[in-house]
Amino acid sequence: MDFYGHIIDGVEVPSIDGATMDDIDPYTREPWALIACGGKADAERAIAAARKAFDSGPWPHMGYEKRQAILHRLADLMDEHADELAMADTRDMGKPITQAHHDVARSSLNIRFFADHARMTPGEALPMDSGHHAYTRFDPVGVIVAISPWNFPLMLGTWKIAPALAWGNTVVWKPAEDTPVSATLLARLAIEAGMPPGVLNVVHGYGPDSAGSALTESPDVDRITFTGESGTGKIISAVASRHLTPVSLELGGKGANIVFEDADLDNAVNWAVQAIFRNAGQVCLAGSRLYLQRGIYEEFLRRYKIAAEAMVKGDPKDPATEFPLALASEEHFDKVSSYLDSVGPDGGRILTGGLGEGWSVLPTIVVDVPPAARVCREEIFGPVVAVQVFDTEAEVLAAANNTRYGLNAMVFTENLSRAHRMSSRLRAGTVWVNCFFIRDLRAPFGGFGDSGVGREGGNFSREFCTEPKAVVMQIDEDPNA
Ligand code: NAD
Repeated sequence: MDFYGHIIDGVEVPSIDGATMDDIDPYTREPWALIACGGKADAERAIAAARKAFDSGPWPHMGYEKRQAILHRLADLMDEHADELAMADTRDMGKPITQAHHDVARSSLNIRFFADHARMTPGEALPMDSGHHAYTRFDPVGVIVAISPWNFPLMLGTWKIAPALAWGNTVVWKPAEDTPVSATLLARLAIEAGMPPGVLNVVHGYGPDSAGSALTESPDVDRITFTGESGTGKIISAVASRHLTPVSLELGGKGANIVFEDADLDNAVNWAVQAIFRNAGQVCLAGSRLYLQRGIYEEFLRRYKIAAEAMVKGDPKDPATEFPLALASEEHFDKVSSYLDSVGPDGGRILTGGLGEGWSVLPTIVVDVPPAARVCREEIFGPVVAVQVFDTEAEVLAAANNTRYGLNAMVFTENLSRAHRMSSRLRAGTVWVNCFFIRDLRAPFGGFGDSGVGREGGNFSREFCTEPKAVVMQIDEDPNA
């Protein structure tokens, strides 16, 4: 088995105490790589390297153009190594290889986008009446800790580290313990691209009482950007508040997908399949609550069931596979299957789906289910959708907003006024109308309520990754005054 170490101060290293962890391929259910397992000492070593690179290294002051060039070189190398990067995420979490390739392309785009955005974004000049003028600077904050989840390992990691680096910060990234390999591969490429030592550090390990918590407890960290479960976000927020360290939290979701009678049904069915079965539903944005207006209920379900059953299911490594016969880990499989067990006792019935082979759950549609059921309220993070019927716009709006989450919602309708009305009234960070998953990296991304704190993307990432500073200058001293 190949070994993947931490990357600290530009060097790949084992843990200080030599600890390792097996990296399990959830499809074969066998270890396929050996990973350095970091603890507090490794986390502190990585923070010290990032601190030194920020306080006395060239990165924060080399200028946007030079950083842009290095980041573009990194993105080019990622594209050249796309097969290796994609296979790492596929083996680590069972993501279908075609989707992993899509993630790699989006990951190199993340790097390019933020490199360009940082260079192109103007500041503000504020002419004043008094013979002075003021202008804003966006200076890097220092050391940014990025902690990412396992469902889009490379894509969400780069979404965090790219703006941090582009704005001149140094970074310590802890990927999820279940999906560590692509982070080490990326950091190796960053060295090859010419990124100075200590600018991008990767520490592997677990969350609580391990590398993760050590990173969040450090007084030497200037920002923490976290994506993961809402419960973990609350813990990190509390820990970070001890040092008043600002946090950005991208957390869980329970997306409402609303289909009105006037919708283009083929389009709505297609997106409803993608919304909950892509990546086996292990997507924060998953459309896990599907609301169908009464007039199309039967016909929609008929088409939806056929489409779910027709997905090509199999080995995640097979390019033909649309739906993987593996959830990300045994622990996660146990969690998702417990929701299937709840369907009978809580009410509802499984129209299609259920347990698959190994650690897999098939595309599962639950119908006739009361809104109070766990499958309607809790984030399952698997390929399980709860379907409910509605009559009026007001009724479905109230139902959709009746959640502690608020990450995203989808509306399918051909009625323009209704589309705008719903978009303004849905309590969700992103509303998609007649589509899903489409992103503009300049747009705010984040959630209401338990779905998070803050927004990322474009200028929203700039706000987080920089200290906006006001400079006031005297430009005209009146000699007659
Ligand atoms: P998780 O919270 O268990 O773990 C996420 C990361 O946090 C991992 O790297 C983990 O090691 C680390 N961690 C765990 N406890 C920690 C602690 N006490 N201190 C520091 N670090 C700690 O989440 P997960 O199971 O990896 O990911 C699934 C969750 O992520 C789902 O809830 C999903 O909705 C959410 N998610 C949200 C978004 C978004 O953009 N809003 C995107 C993807 C996933």
